[in-house]
Amino acid sequence: MTINAPTVTRDGVLGFDGSEVVTIDQASGAVLARYPVAGEGEAIAAVAIARSVSGPWWDLGFDGRAKRLRAWQGEIARGGEEVAALIHAENGKPLDDARSEVLGTIGQLQFALDNAEPALGRQDVPVAPSAPNQRAWVEYQPYGVVGVIGPWNFPLTTPGAIVINALAAGNAVVLKPSHITPGVGQWLVQAWQRAVPDFPTVLQYLIGYGATGQALIAAGLDKVAFTGSVATGKTVAAQCAQTITPVLLELGGNDGVIVAEDADLDEAAAHIVWGALGNAGQGCVSLEVAYVVESVYDSFVAKITDLARQVRVGSGADAQIGSVPLTSQIPVIREHIKDALERGASAVVGGLDTVTGDRYVAPTILVDVPADALAATEETFGPTLVVVKVADTEEAIALINAGPYGLGSAVFSQGHGEAIARRLRVGMTSINDALSFVMNPALPFGGRGDSGYGRKHGEEGLREFAYPHSFSAKTGPARISASTFDRPAGVTAHALAATRDRLLAGTE
Ligand code: NDP
Repeated sequence: MTINAPTVTRDGVLGFDGSEVVTIDQASGAVLARYPVAGEGEAIAAVAIARSVSGPWWDLGFDGRAKRLRAWQGEIARGGEEVAALIHAENGKPLDDARSEVLGTIGQLQFALDNAEPALGRQDVPVAPSAPNQRAWVEYQPYGVVGVIGPWNFPLTTPGAIVINALAAGNAVVLKPSHITPGVGQWLVQAWQRAVPDFPTVLQYLIGYGATGQALIAAGLDKVAFTGSVATGKTVAAQCAQTITPVLLELGGNDGVIVAEDADLDEAAAHIVWGALGNAGQGCVSLEVAYVVESVYDSFVAKITDLARQVRVGSGADAQIGSVPLTSQIPVIREHIKDALERGASAVVGGLDTVTGDRYVAPTILVDVPADALAATEETFGPTLVVVKVADTEEAIALINAGPYGLGSAVFSQGHGEAIARRLRVGMTSINDALSFVMNPALPFGGRGDSGYGRKHGEEGLREFAYPHSFSAKTGPARISASTFDRPAGVTAHALAATRDRLLAGTE
């Protein structure tokens, strides 16, 4: 396979010619580090090494793996401030947000430690009436080698939680972090290698661009977990289809939030301003569009305008949102704002001037936005919020469900939150809160539609990286030998007649 080296400079990465990744400090623009790009040879070698250790890693059993995952958890906690500083530098998010990523990763590890065996251990199931002399059970066995291709927006927690799920399920893992945040991926793997010296290669990393991700998939994985854009997700899925390699796709979203007539508007505004603008809006589950019922629209807009104006942007210690490290996203943010303004929306906070072309973009709140504007229908992935006036919650539900995505969502209603939430065709909903589902490692995380398929987090996340192996063992001579040629004559006809009589008796 040929690695197509990109030849253009992009994303604020200096000296990018495809042969090395050069990271920059988001605050100063200074070079942080240089990494050689891993190609086809490195990918093949990493996957071969991973395969050679995957069996012994599974053979350790749940207790043996838990001991090593716990040691890694301690190492991450010990180096928490160090990796938070690295996240802050490479990604540009405030230090406290970076610390939250460390806490989230530690929490995911704790969930895996507490739940891997209950979720993945042997599960006895009832025997079938037609084969009563059997024991039956399911075991969840690892795929083998999992490739994790990660994003830059949550460079520790996002790939970290998936790596944790895959390791806890008994797989070896090769991680390809984003070229914007490779140092964080490397740190996570090196922490593993320090903490688990007897199995250092159960977790490895490959640094590079998209071509490195392609090379990793081509090297022969047993499962791929991809987080990123819809467009790249389709490319990854198409590549995986060539070898029938299963793939988890965590793609984008255009998350809607409903503000009902009975919402606590102060609470709603406080959560929504954070859910939309936090992490500079660069979250797959960032709130992008608020559907606000007419009767509370003006009051909500006044409250959110006031709060959004106070949000502090920059790299300083008091900043609440940091940079947009994928600088190619800045024209997209600008285009979405421009399109909305041209279609009659107004910016009550920010506007086109907030998108200045450097790496820092200030918040924009757009009101009176037509429901079909780009900013309302597409993922903006920036610090913007679109506010759409709706007649009632029925209209809001219909608008959210009509979109191609189906990732996260939120509902603010004091009396009907659950009823509204249940009707949304999305993977996750926070009720009277924003993004709270992300913070609970027991809740499965993922979407439907263009947001992808498969789940990380929770028991489903652990099972995502294992396949069910079903067992059925005979415990004695079969009374009804349905699985031999010498079954007694008439036994099947008798069983069918008995089943018919039993079912019909129940319906009369
Ligand atoms: P991409 O989807 O391009 O990249 C995500 C990861 O996939 C990166 O590690 C990337 O490498 C890698 N990659 C790129 N091409 C391939 C390929 N052909 N095969 C295998 N791996 C590949 O996302 P971007 O970072 O460029 O962001 C673009 C947009 O995607 C954002 O603006 C946002 O809308 C969305 N996004 C969504 C995320 C989410 O959480 N769901 C996370 C990040 C982005 P590299 O970039 O290093 O070259």
